[in-house]
Amino acid sequence: MLEVNDLHKAYGRHEVLRGVSLAVRPGTIHGLVGANGAGKTTLLNCLYGLESGFTGTVGVGGDLRPVREVTGLVPYEPYFYPRLTGREYVEFCLQARGRAVPDLRPWNQLLELPLDQYATDYSAGMKKKLALLAVLVQQFPYLILDEPFNGLDLEANLLLKAMLKRLHDQGTGILLTSHILGTLTEVADEATVLVAGRVQRHYQAAEFGTLEADLLAALHGEKLSQLDALL
Ligand code: ATP
Repeated sequence: MLEVNDLHKAYGRHEVLRGVSLAVRPGTIHGLVGANGAGKTTLLNCLYGLESGFTGTVGVGGDLRPVREVTGLVPYEPYFYPRLTGREYVEFCLQARGRAVPDLRPWNQLLELPLDQYATDYSAGMKKKLALLAVLVQQFPYLILDEPFNGLDLEANLLLKAMLKRLHDQGTGILLTSHILGTLTEVADEATVLVAGRVQRHYQAAEFGTLEADLLAALHGEKLSQLDALL
């Protein structure tokens, strides 16, 4: 199980995470929901060891091993070095972990990327697909996906949903963020709502029916009244 316990993180005086706890079990998809600035990316970065200076604990298993050892990350905006082709990027990711490079052709029949072009020249959706490809071929027990559907075309969107379902069924634990509530509730088994750096509530799939109404009430209640006055 991938665990976050009482995580606090501040940038200067700005407390971005205020005691966040959640767990991602093997074979489950856990959605992380929250408004812009709620702290989702900061949480994922702390989990993956890309942020320091936080308190609380994060890790995998009883001995809280570093999450990065067993987890693939697809960041919100994947970074690609200049003058590296898509293929070289995937090779680089695998070699950095001392892993052999598999035949990419079967995967690329699905994703249809121009692997011999520079990754920096890819469109936003192609960049997302390339970052996904680099983690999918590694078959990690856990995945952290920050807005994985963002920028994907309709076909890639459907493909990603099918991939997530299969990974889920094979026992992969997946933590993902999405601002598209319908997509998130379609694929997730449970969800955590983050409001201003605090967990507002954990939802199980059976409770997703109330999630949208709760989000509207919690996040936009005042705004809806203002909207009533305007329109
Ligand atoms: P979004 O949905 O817009 O991606 P988010 O929930 O992922 O938002 P974060 O990116 O985690 O939010 O940001 C949470 C807060 O932390 C924001 O107020 C942001 O300005 C602040 N923040 C994030 N990174 C830094 C940083 N490196 N230095 C200072 N403040 C930061």
